[in-house]
Amino acid sequence: MQFRDLSVQYERLKPEIDRAIAGVLESGRFIGGPEVSALETELADYVGVKHCITCGNGTDALQLALMAWGVGSGDAVFVPDFTFFSSGEVVSAVGATPVFVDVDEHTFNIDPAKLEQAASYVERERQLTPKAVVAVDLFGLPADYPSIRKVCDEHNLLLLEDGAQGFGGSIEGKMACSFGDISTTSFFPAKPLGCYGDGGAVFTDNDEWAELIRSYAVHGKGTMKYDNVRVGMNSRLDSLQAAILRVKFKAFREYEVADVNARAALYGSALENTSLVLPRVPDGYTSSWAQYTVRVPGGVDRDALQAMLKTQGVPTMVYYPKPMHEQLAFKDRCVIPQEGCPVTERLCRTVLSLPMGPLLLEGDQLLVAATVCSCLENG
Ligand SMILES: *Cc1c(COP(=O)(O)O)cnc(C)c1O
Repeated sequence: MQFRDLSVQYERLKPEIDRAIAGVLESGRFIGGPEVSALETELADYVGVKHCITCGNGTDALQLALMAWGVGSGDAVFVPDFTFFSSGEVVSAVGATPVFVDVDEHTFNIDPAKLEQAASYVERERQLTPKAVVAVDLFGLPADYPSIRKVCDEHNLLLLEDGAQGFGGSIEGKMACSFGDISTTSFFPAKPLGCYGDGGAVFTDNDEWAELIRSYAVHGKGTMKYDNVRVGMNSRLDSLQAAILRVKFKAFREYEVADVNARAALYGSALENTSLVLPRVPDGYTSSWAQYTVRVPGGVDRDALQAMLKTQGVPTMVYYPKPMHEQLAFKDRCVIPQEGCPVTERLCRTVLSLPMGPLLLEGDQLLVAATVCSCLENG
């Protein structure tokens, strides 16, 4: 069994994907072109925003958003302490200071009450200008945008949705990647919608930011490629990846989001009588289940459990073992709350992600559940 088996999906879509790849090779258009613009239109329609700008990866997508807003030195950007490194990395990359905020124990997403405290704290201290929030849709579940938006309004903060793991999720029918003033996603192969290499996208309703992002993504181009009006970067989605994504996006829309939710429901029933704390999806929310992440109860050694599962052929992962504020890269260049981030610290010791994906076999899932149960009982 693999943690996330991408070859099964390829087998299923092989004729269409092979045809799409051949089409690009025959067209001779490898950067930009009709596949990229068609994909951007399809993604924007699905998410329900005006503009989609594809780019090189999900990290660049976040950085492009901060560049469009002119975030830089002296600015504070609020980031959950429990996330993938990129969410905070881009803040430092543009010269601003990440302020790490603790998360909610049940959703794993940024805690709006603690965000409010952190924003007030930075305002009182007057060392940094509070500028933006990076809210992450961790493991596929959209963050609490209704509450986060209120804090942003009160403190005059821009909202950047990091939907790298959240694409396909929703709140009351409104799609992930539509909640931020700018939202982003990643097409890294293992994300809910993945390509066969690196890829990313930026979403916004704002015409001016969309134009700036298109410019920053191509060397700060002006009216044309060899007219450079600002210092940008080189961040584009390849035509090949766009063509592959269009095939995969169709499957994603038509059945994969529903299938992965059925997988989550099966884990839910197969594991409900164990001592594990199972992931919960709040009313009105849909997750795209980038990960199925459980928590081991107090008294259970997570690392020992993981090792035992491994010897029995069940692969698991720890997302994430370290709080952001403990990463060496942020030493002396981030702000953390006085009381620390105790929820994140506890999660880093207790979370365990199980094999997951829309094409996971029911038999494999039941085997995972049975093995987890026996390991918990015997160890
Ligand atoms: C994967 C990921 C990113 C970065 O995406 P890349 O395409 O790998 O650059 C950013 N944020 C989160 C939460 C992610 O999971």
